[in-house]
Amino acid sequence: MFERFRQWRRERVLATHALPDPLWDEAVAMLSFLDIYDEDERAALRDRVVLFLAEKGIVGAQDFEVTPLMRVVIAIQACVLILKLPPDAYAGWTNVVVYPDEFRPKIEYEDENGVVHLRDHEIAGEAWQGGPVLLSWADVERSRDFETAGMNLVIHEFAHKLDMQNGAADGVPLLRPGMRADEWRRIADTTYAAFVADVEAWEAKGEPPDGEPLIDPYAADAPEEFFAVCSEVFFAAPDVLRDAYPDYYRLLARYYGQDPAARYDAADAAGAAPAAAH
Ligand SMILES: [Zn+2]
Repeated sequence: MFERFRQWRRERVLATHALPDPLWDEAVAMLSFLDIYDEDERAALRDRVVLFLAEKGIVGAQDFEVTPLMRVVIAIQACVLILKLPPDAYAGWTNVVVYPDEFRPKIEYEDENGVVHLRDHEIAGEAWQGGPVLLSWADVERSRDFETAGMNLVIHEFAHKLDMQNGAADGVPLLRPGMRADEWRRIADTTYAAFVADVEAWEAKGEPPDGEPLIDPYAADAPEEFFAVCSEVFFAAPDVLRDAYPDYYRLLARYYGQDPAARYDAADAAGAAPAAAH
């Protein structure tokens, strides 16, 4: 009954909140990793974006004016993760707060020893359990092209949101039917340990093997950061993750219900590889 009502409501929102074509086209053109999505996938993504924008507030902090284009650019990247996940994957919270640049949230937090601190450094983004996602627009803008930035801030923070669907972020999101938590942990723990060992080896030598690390060493900080960073790579440079950690890539592919690296393979086979392949 409630599901039928929710479905009716979603259809009503889609019918009444259409995005203007020029706005959609401009936003898509800013996100080169969408080149590999076909027309049907883009149409499905657009529906998700319309629903997202109807449900969430994307509001400016510090008098920052969030334009319609910024809203759509943020919403597209947030919705790429949930394209094949249930429609309520981002339920339970309301706002995305956009700062002009890096920011220092005026919140206190408690460390593992029970000591309360005021945050003492500036950050580019943060996801709160049951609360907002905070983003620096300057960093959204800088990281929309993974190839030059080596990261994608919006995908990172929204991966944390998915991880928080089943409690505090720990690198294990709410799994889809048929996926087992023990299997997830086995693959994720093994891959994470291998990555941490790689990062330690780079640090001992002073640099990663080929100059630039392909997966941000920040992923070695904690299992939840590994999940969020690898989710960025999964969507924005999928063949990098598939080559480096195929088991973990397949795990994410099952969870997200998408196989982005296969899209590149198909484009390669057709002789029409998109410009932004890495
Ligand atoms: Zn993080």
